[in-house]
Amino acid sequence: MQGAFFLRQGALSRSVRAALLCLLAAANLQAHSDTLVQPELPSALIAQPGWTTRSYAVAAANPLATRAGQQILKAGGSAVDAAVAVQMVLTLVEPQSSGIGGGAFLLHFDGRHTQAYDGRETAPALATPDLFLDASGKPLALMEAVVGGRSVGVPGALSMLYQAHKAHGRLPWKALFVPAIDLARKGFAISPRMATLLAAEKALKTDPVALAYFFDAQGQPWPEGHVLRNPELAAVLQAIASQGPDALMRGAVARALVQKVNTHANAGRLSLDDLASYRPLQREPLCFAYAVASSARSYRICGMPPPSSGTLAIGQMLGILNARQGQDPPLDQGLPKAQWLHLYTEAARLAFADRAQYVADPAFVDAPGGAWKSLLAPNYLSERASAIAPSGQRMPQVLPGRPGPLRVGYAPMPEQTEHGTSHISIADAFGNALSMTTTIEDAWGARLMVNRGRGLAGGFLLNNQLTDFSLTPFAGDGTPIANRVEPGKRPRSSMSPVLVFDEKTHALLMSAGSPGGAFIIHFTAKTLLGVLNWGLSPQQAISLPNFGSLGGALFLEQGRFPAATLAALRAQGHQVTETALPSGLQAIERLPKGYAGGADPRREGLVLGD
Ligand code: GLU
Repeated sequence: MQGAFFLRQGALSRSVRAALLCLLAAANLQAHSDTLVQPELPSALIAQPGWTTRSYAVAAANPLATRAGQQILKAGGSAVDAAVAVQMVLTLVEPQSSGIGGGAFLLHFDGRHTQAYDGRETAPALATPDLFLDASGKPLALMEAVVGGRSVGVPGALSMLYQAHKAHGRLPWKALFVPAIDLARKGFAISPRMATLLAAEKALKTDPVALAYFFDAQGQPWPEGHVLRNPELAAVLQAIASQGPDALMRGAVARALVQKVNTHANAGRLSLDDLASYRPLQREPLCFAYAVASSARSYRICGMPPPSSGTLAIGQMLGILNARQGQDPPLDQGLPKAQWLHLYTEAARLAFADRAQYVADPAFVDAPGGAWKSLLAPNYLSERASAIAPSGQRMPQVLPGRPGPLRVGYAPMPEQTEHGTSHISIADAFGNALSMTTTIEDAWGARLMVNRGRGLAGGFLLNNQLTDFSLTPFAGDGTPIANRVEPGKRPRSSMSPVLVFDEKTHALLMSAGSPGGAFIIHFTAKTLLGVLNWGLSPQQAISLPNFGSLGGALFLEQGRFPAATLAALRAQGHQVTETALPSGLQAIERLPKGYAGGADPRREGLVLGD
């Protein structure tokens, strides 16, 4: 495969990996658009062959989770049934990324209709815009905000899955918990990636429950292959299996959760009522038409509307690129060329300027012009595209556009780091498909592990999703930032689970998504471009080098682009930074017969089917 690279598992020696981790761990944790801190640290690259299946497929970030999904599909389960089983196993085996203590977005297609489920965390009723300001009114350093109870939002992933299961489940809810409960009781071998992230983690130890569970008696992190048992999680999952989400959101678990959050030195303001009153939402999916000139094909790409900024940003970038793309082929020897990367970067900078200005929870802010689609209108995107300098030089400054009138003026939100997530793509044998991205925000979330105190080891980790709000609520002149903390509000997200359809036949073509903080937008866009524009398989598209900009510098995946490309981009005025860009992409493409699946060589995903 041109332009793709693979390293076999273990190809990075332990010492090289350790040195790499030390370097990365020492990096400043505050990111803005010119510097970048990885959402999750990189781990060893794994050769991913790409997979084909006949009548169903499940792609998840951990082999044990994928297997659980396959087991459910094999037993006649639906895509949502499998997603529940996958999420429960991920809570156990990929605790750094997602779980029942976090939130998620799920896009579901039942063969006719697409639905968007929003299981995003909410801010407690007592949260105020100054939640992340210190006594002198300055925003806290990111890790001061993250670690502890202050950043914990009301978890929504489980309630969302319950709601989706009511509509689309085929197997009993209870049956979906069997794989995770079994694994939690018997134990699972810590994966290479979990061990890598655990070895680099500092703050998790400060939580006594997490210290006792993830570390040995000397305080050393358990290594790869160590068999970890989580009887507390098994008991909680057992209760959820028989009582539904109430077993998490009310009663003993809810009390333990609230106590944990509110009694931490960095206390939160969560109440039992916040948990009991949480409601997942069904939203109108945000869909846009996307034409590929070179193949004369047109697609319909559907994703989450706000509070996610993902679909809007991807739609804007693709639309701006379409408005500006010339006849020049974008690839050279399988890699994006400098000229194309320049256009892509400028499109990204325009999209990220709008994202910072406008996107927040739609229950709290109005869309410009009254509808979020104003940001995707072809005329608006052509106008935005015309800002890209014809000279081929980088635009010196990028401002948000004005797609429509707004009653309230907002100040742009400064770029902040986002972290810790997993993506699941599933197609079942009944014509249902889904794309779900699920997160506890930072790797290891708020570093708080909930345990009911009944003498069982383990538990589950809580999210720090509230740091996806702007830590700074107002600009210097007092203008509010749309994505500031407010009671009951859902923080802006970058998660971009997408489903792609043939525009004419409405047939489902693809499910894709990734973790990676704000870079999720680029990872997912790259995969869409790879499959839809460049004719690659999902695996080839996922394996392509990563690239993107959050508004400032252009980041290229370390060592993956020729020096001439970097030099050409620098000559156009770009500040080019090579760095690790550890996406965790998963994608499934519908083939004339069956499915092709891909999982990210940068993480340890697996695709299985029949
Ligand atoms: N919390 C982020 C979001 O919702 C995702 C973080 C990540 O993927 O690393 O957008």
